[in-house]
Amino acid sequence: MTPLTPLKTIGTLLVAVLFPHCCLFCEWPGTVLCTRCSHKLDFCTQIEAPVYYPDLSLVAVCRFNQDSRRIIHTFKYRGIPAFGKRIAELLFHHASLPSIDFITSVPPDPVRKKRRGFDHTQLIAQNLATLLNKPYITTLKKNTQSGAQAKTNSRKERLKNAEHRFSLLPQLTVQQTLAHKKVLLVDDVCTTGSTLRECVYELQKLSLGCHCAVFCIRV
Ligand SMILES: [Zn+2]
Repeated sequence: MTPLTPLKTIGTLLVAVLFPHCCLFCEWPGTVLCTRCSHKLDFCTQIEAPVYYPDLSLVAVCRFNQDSRRIIHTFKYRGIPAFGKRIAELLFHHASLPSIDFITSVPPDPVRKKRRGFDHTQLIAQNLATLLNKPYITTLKKNTQSGAQAKTNSRKERLKNAEHRFSLLPQLTVQQTLAHKKVLLVDDVCTTGSTLRECVYELQKLSLGCHCAVFCIRV
């Protein structure tokens, strides 16, 4: 291997300082996902999400495959917040977003959030709120399972627990100003739709009109 000349070393360092990120797929500097590579995503048609998840008002950027999986994985487990902004840009440009009053997000598991040090879904939602010039409001929390609950072997018990995975933040249960507003609920991936359904169920207790937007869906 040819050793780097001092000039090349300085050049490499300068690029690293000026462009702290490079494309996940082609290493183009300045972005975590360049425009060229983003065009290779398996984009959804506008009607695709409603066909696969008919009981949800849902839009998605792309289908779940090894590329979208790699993006989500890198974002979540390597902790690169810049993906939050990039995914929000993709939602803004490629998903047919409905008209809404504010944005919220599917809350993470508190233990996983603590381990990761950030809430990746909230980052997407907050960046999308900025692009849409709408407020971001935290509305939900994910309930932690007690050891006894987690260890239960009864299917009935497990299903009962699953029904209460999410709940409205206590201050929102008496919140009247949100009633009849339209909310966009953001998540990274939609697999079976059960998480979105559970969150929508909670949000509807506030008489909200609920729409969902995700980065990728399994179809
Ligand atoms: Zn690229």
